[in-house]
Amino acid sequence: MDNTHRFYCIHYAEVGLKGKNRAYFEKKLVKNIKLSLQGTKYTEVKRLHDRILVLLDQSTDISAIEQRLRGVMGIAHFELVNLSDKNMAAIKEMSLKSIEGKDFQSLKVETKRSDKNFPLTSPEISKEIGGHLIQKTGCQADMHNPDVTVRIDVSRHDVYIYSDKQTGIGGLPVGVSGKVLVMLSGGIDSPVAAWRMIKRGAKAVFIHFFSYPYTDKASLEKVMELARILSESNYRSTVYLIPFADLQQIIVSETPAPFRVLLYRRLMTRIAERVAILADAEALVTGESLAQVASQTLTNLRSIESIAEIPILRPLIGDDKADIIEKAQQIGTFDVSTLPHQDCCSLFVPKHPATRASVEDLDNAEKALDISFLVEKAIQGMEKRIVCFDYEY
Ligand code: ATP
Ligand code: MG
Repeated sequence: MDNTHRFYCIHYAEVGLKGKNRAYFEKKLVKNIKLSLQGTKYTEVKRLHDRILVLLDQSTDISAIEQRLRGVMGIAHFELVNLSDKNMAAIKEMSLKSIEGKDFQSLKVETKRSDKNFPLTSPEISKEIGGHLIQKTGCQADMHNPDVTVRIDVSRHDVYIYSDKQTGIGGLPVGVSGKVLVMLSGGIDSPVAAWRMIKRGAKAVFIHFFSYPYTDKASLEKVMELARILSESNYRSTVYLIPFADLQQIIVSETPAPFRVLLYRRLMTRIAERVAILADAEALVTGESLAQVASQTLTNLRSIESIAEIPILRPLIGDDKADIIEKAQQIGTFDVSTLPHQDCCSLFVPKHPATRASVEDLDNAEKALDISFLVEKAIQGMEKRIVCFDYEY
């Protein structure tokens, strides 16, 4: 269909958006929409006072635009609008176009008229257009539960007609809430934790600790693929890869077995903090959920966290595993997360790890380690990679 008289109108949730904040928010959203639409044929993304328009090219592939808008954080809903001249013949033609190709049995027309000089009132317009559409399509009128609602907005210069309000992903535009460093393991939980933070407007950078050559390379490949999937909404994403096996060997030879995983975690946290400073991130994010495994009891979370100097955010802390799995399926990370891999934390782990290690227990166990040497060694071995999301068309 010719798109010259059509455009997308994008709405965002306005709660708390006032003054300067609002312009900042809108500019970020426009920038992100442009990033998402790269490679599609639109002509312009335009900011109006409380909405954003995407103007289309004659040959724009509408389905590609819609697929991408659905992945943009910060969009509450959007619709494809048909632009009509201000006369009833044109409004009839465009109303019919707005429902072309749709499958429906019943409809309703709703009109809003901000131009009070238009010769017909809103109910009169709805009635006349409704009658025309029913006659042309053979469908029924239904004022209470219609399959399709055609909305007509008579404004000062033009008439806008749309019938397909689509729900967006919600949240806030990526970047408005600062940057976080996500500890990405290759498992199910941490990508979901990342997604939650991205949805709240945080730009995510990622860190992964790997034990290759003690394990295979699967965790590395999985993490790069997970970061790629997340970059659909996070855009260009940085992944920091940290070789961890040599450090684990040292922990294993110097400290009591029941504390190993917790000491791995403390060391990971310290290394991640160093990387956060390098990457300009203000918090760490993990996929931990209360009591899901031995290292995630309240006591253990506390004794790991006691050495942290920046906030550790755990967006999944109160979620059940089943809900996390459902979310992972929805955001497209589940199938990658469930491919087999050996996490570095499962390496050299005793059968019965401590479920209640106190801060003092870990502080004492760490006395046998040269912590700053270990952190430095990890940073020296670090590799930085960049991933982007590629659409298939
Ligand atoms: P996940 O599904 O994210 O692996 P999990 O339930 O398996 O989580 P753990 O393996 O105990 O839990 O890990 C808890 C959290 O610690 C992870 O969600 C992740 O944020 C972080 N983490 C664990 N292993 C690694 C790793 N190798 N690299 C980076 N972060 C890790
Ligand atoms: Mg794991």
